[in-house]
Amino acid sequence: TPGGSSRAQEEKILVTVRVRPLSKRELAMKDQKVAWECADSQTILYKGPQQDRAAPTSYTFDKVFGPACQTDLVYEDGAKDVAMSALTGINATIFAYGQTSSGKTFTMRGVTESAVRDIYKHIENNPEREFIIKISAMEIYNENVKDLLRPDSGPLRLLDDPEKGTIVEKLDEEIAKDSQHLRHLIGICEEQRQVGETALNDASSRSHQIIRLTVESRLREASGCVKSFVANLNFVDLAGSERAAQTHAIGARLKEGGHINRSLLTLTTVIRKLSSEKRSGHIPYRDSKLTRILQLSLGGNARTAIICTMSPALTHAEQSRNTLFFATCAK
Ligand code: ADP
Ligand code: MG
Repeated sequence: TPGGSSRAQEEKILVTVRVRPLSKRELAMKDQKVAWECADSQTILYKGPQQDRAAPTSYTFDKVFGPACQTDLVYEDGAKDVAMSALTGINATIFAYGQTSSGKTFTMRGVTESAVRDIYKHIENNPEREFIIKISAMEIYNENVKDLLRPDSGPLRLLDDPEKGTIVEKLDEEIAKDSQHLRHLIGICEEQRQVGETALNDASSRSHQIIRLTVESRLREASGCVKSFVANLNFVDLAGSERAAQTHAIGARLKEGGHINRSLLTLTTVIRKLSSEKRSGHIPYRDSKLTRILQLSLGGNARTAIICTMSPALTHAEQSRNTLFFATCAK
């Protein structure tokens, strides 16, 4: 594969944390307090009352972004390098992980926008290459995969392709004519998702959204050895992480009822295994739709960035702790 798989193999997952400002609703709550402080660009401190003496009060990551941080900086330091590696043939995935209303969609929207801007900047700066950008998008809800580019798509099947790995049958893929067209197509996906949200109460907190760009390029001067690149770049807005916590707590009973968020649970296991020192043992990609779809863009010859989002509010401290615990396992 072009792009140097050995280098990518050694990459750790880039893990960053973004703390959003207090929301109006949080501000309106009586006795509301900010429980977390970004001490420097890599450290988050817990400042609230200490109930569990064993819980850590200081967390360190590749980068932490405080409430005053603009999304552009989050993109620059938390996603750009990973995203741009797709231009040279390395599959890449950028996740937003966190509890519902912690800022996942807000952050991913901005990160996707910035990445699109930089992809087209790169295309402009490399006129000797010909680029083709394609987009597809899907939503996984209750382990059903839906096409976000086609309004009336029913559940789509996953198929195993000997060369391409897992593919989503009948998933629409559009060629973006230019950056404006690509932004338009991304807008359609977002609209689609909003339609689903009003139809089903808390769909957005339970579903995963993947926007997938396929970036292909080759030298225009077709000489003897034409070096071509193909890679996927995935933007993944995950289901609310409180689902994973709930599932852990409640266990078997709900599992039978089908209420488990299998994709989120499997993803956290896969990420944990990929980050563990040895990377040995079985990695259960095949246990969920999300991890099957992303398999070739996670681990191996791929780069991954996870932006963990959290509220600074004391009232959400427990969920924020869970998020920081996941982030610690992922790095
Ligand atoms: P999630 O997708 O995790 O459920 P959202 O992205 O929808 O959360 O964010 C919840 C609300 O908070 C939205 O109204 C959003 O505009 C706002 N918000 C999130 N992050 C920020 C931020 N960093 N700065 C300002 N507002 C934010
Ligand atoms: Mg959201």
